[in-house]
Amino acid sequence: MPRRIDVGELQLSMYESLFPSEIAALRDLSERLKGVRVLHINATPYGGGVSELLRSIVPMERALGIDSSWIVISGDERFFNVTKSFHNALQGDTYKLTPTDKETYLAYNKLNADALTEDYDFIFVHDPQPVAIRHMRPSTKARWIWRCHIDTSNPNPQVWQFLLPFIHDYDAVIFTMREFVPEGITGRVDIIPPGIDPLSPKNMELPEDISRHILNWVGAPKDGPIICQVSRFDPWKDPLGVIAAYRLIAKEKPDVRLILIGSMALDDPQGWEIYDKIIKAKNKGNIHIFTNFMGVADIQVNAFQRVADVVIQKSKKEGFGLVVSETLWKGTPIVAGRAGGIPMQLAGGGGFLVDSVEETAKRALEVLDNPGPAAEEGRRGRRYIREHFLIMRLIKDHLNLLLSLA
Ligand code: UDP
Repeated sequence: MPRRIDVGELQLSMYESLFPSEIAALRDLSERLKGVRVLHINATPYGGGVSELLRSIVPMERALGIDSSWIVISGDERFFNVTKSFHNALQGDTYKLTPTDKETYLAYNKLNADALTEDYDFIFVHDPQPVAIRHMRPSTKARWIWRCHIDTSNPNPQVWQFLLPFIHDYDAVIFTMREFVPEGITGRVDIIPPGIDPLSPKNMELPEDISRHILNWVGAPKDGPIICQVSRFDPWKDPLGVIAAYRLIAKEKPDVRLILIGSMALDDPQGWEIYDKIIKAKNKGNIHIFTNFMGVADIQVNAFQRVADVVIQKSKKEGFGLVVSETLWKGTPIVAGRAGGIPMQLAGGGGFLVDSVEETAKRALEVLDNPGPAAEEGRRGRRYIREHFLIMRLIKDHLNLLLSLA
């Protein structure tokens, strides 16, 4: 059975005092959407960017008087193996779509569609896992929006052709960047990049001494330079490439520590496989690998993104890459792969775009060797994120879309 996620109750007073104009704009827009029923559907309540976004969007929409809720679809390992293959194939991996995979995919979408008995005014379906649900609920009065969070600029044709008829059933589709819109989309398309919640436990201010204490408690005291990547254990995030870059950096700076933080998501059965590979590759060196299973969650990620001398995000493919905005929001410089939504987050400064292991190591060393200019770069990055990639802007874009579809 799909699960309803209770996000409790959020009071906006703190947001209001720190971001008065943004909240005033949201209050203004939401006046016309009071009591409107909005549902968000996705595949996992934790781990990865979509759950991160919904954990902040849904309570904030509710605090604005919109009747928003969040449902996570159910599925077994077989289903999530198929959907992870779809995810990889849509980002360009080779994959042969089999009749059994199609059957599994559709069976679980049907099961979840049948369990969706209530009606709503607007339904957001996030990513490809639940995309066929709309097709299986033809008679609802809701307006349906498909929100694609991944890079579909060069999708595997078999998977894309299989999903396209289901996507055509939607009233609007949202992509993060214009470049991600694949061929064949005919209806309304909106381009809306995501944003981070500046006051979530992951992003709120943390004093330096508390941050250092957290690192110490986790088991990575700040007794030398720290480089860090925070990402699901996923081939596109290239954790093995990060280890290779670390080895080059450690030749010059043997006291550097590498911290890899990875979360396991309900819909990502590949995570443990990659975890094992990383543990093997780690072998020797000053490397630590932490996960949400060991209690390295939001506050801990916050502390690492603050205390690290340089954050790495060595993505080869990326939808948006919330971790980039999270890092820059803390004024920490980043060295990041030139992929998907990453360059647009670095457009105002804050770090370097790279295309290889060697370049990653070179740029990271540059940051380590020049702490003054690196800190200034970090401050520029923070200003840009403040202006463009906070969650209030994302919700504003959503509300405008709802008003125009109403
Ligand atoms: N994340 C986390 N713990 C981890 C790894 C990732 O909390 O160990 C969070 C990270 O801070 C970010 C999200 O998961 O908020 C990942 O989002 P992103 O857009 O960077 O990548 P995705 O996983 O959606 O591909």
